Amino acid sequence: MTMAGGAGSGPGALPRPRADLAGLPPYVAGRPPSSPPGLTPYKLSSNENPYPPLPGVLEAATRAVAAMERYPDMGVTALYRALADRLDLVPEQLSAGTGSTAVLFQLISAFCGPGDEVVVPWRSFEAYPIAITVAGARGVPVPLTADARHDLEAMADAVTERTRVLIVCTPNNPTGPALRHAELDAFLDRIPARVLVVVDEAYAEFVRHADPVDGLRLLRERPNVALLRTFSKAYGLAGLRVGYLASTVSIAGAVRSVSLPFGVSAPAQAAAVASLDAQDLLSERVDALVAERDRLVAGLTGHGWRLPEAQGNFVWLPAGARTAELVAAAETVAISVRGFAGVGVRVTVGEPEANQRIVAALGPLARRAG
Ligand SMILES: *Cc1c(COP(=O)(O)O)cnc(C)c1O
Repeated sequence: MTMAGGAGSGPGALPRPRADLAGLPPYVAGRPPSSPPGLTPYKLSSNENPYPPLPGVLEAATRAVAAMERYPDMGVTALYRALADRLDLVPEQLSAGTGSTAVLFQLISAFCGPGDEVVVPWRSFEAYPIAITVAGARGVPVPLTADARHDLEAMADAVTERTRVLIVCTPNNPTGPALRHAELDAFLDRIPARVLVVVDEAYAEFVRHADPVDGLRLLRERPNVALLRTFSKAYGLAGLRVGYLASTVSIAGAVRSVSLPFGVSAPAQAAAVASLDAQDLLSERVDALVAERDRLVAGLTGHGWRLPEAQGNFVWLPAGARTAELVAAAETVAISVRGFAGVGVRVTVGEPEANQRIVAALGPLARRAG
């Protein structure tokens, strides 16, 4: 037996992953900021929450950490019960995972295989094409409109016999606009019931327009809708990894059936339950972030930037070819933002000082933006 070689399937061949994974797009994580002397660095590159844990959350998570020799509750009993009470669902309609990103991977692999199509808005959340490719399915990206919204007309037209899943992201990451309930409802009338429509509500808490999507109402009225929600953004638990799907018992059961056993850790389960108990302060914090968002938008707009509607905890600067220049300008004031090469820059709403620094550093670059 020889240790040389590796290609092919003869003796001496080495393990090879599926060939179709070679085209897997990478998930680019937001970078940490650089820290020049004298300036407090801020990370505005991953849509994280700038607040410390809500009251009682650290204590609940710490108690769970102390029992780390035990597996977590595989049934996620306490969290499912708390969520079911709050959302007026039965626990069997829920499926939790290590962030709603993991839940999405599970959902796609439970509903799609080779040859199946998944219609997605694009540009949108970069985990979508990865989850689709991993399942061996085919993504059908539908370009956003000129004002960075979902093109619902074109998305409905993109549905074929092969479509198994369709994703809407509202507010849309990274561009910011949110759907109106009425337009989503009318859109769903056009989608065959055999197509599972995923409504990704990662930023739903931050929406402040007159007709917000009522996901739970859609769920009550339609058997082909699944909501994806997360504790990573408004609730500030990004580091603990917990999110969930709410749907029919049948859809949630299928997603649970492909979940990794014991995925959501005990500290994450405990922290999520405790966070749900701190609803009043959570709402105050979300309101404060929304006020900061509106100041950030006003500041940048005042400099001449034309921004799409910002309904999440982030703003989108359509900088085009000047994206790298803006990322570098933020870097000089010790702030990391998320650049999408050649397309634009996403800036998370952070601490007031960080937001002010962004307006001062990126605002004046407006005039020359493409
Ligand atoms: C952040 C985000 C999620 C969820 O992230 P997790 O930390 O995995 O829960 C889901 N969808 C979108 C669009 C996001 O931006």
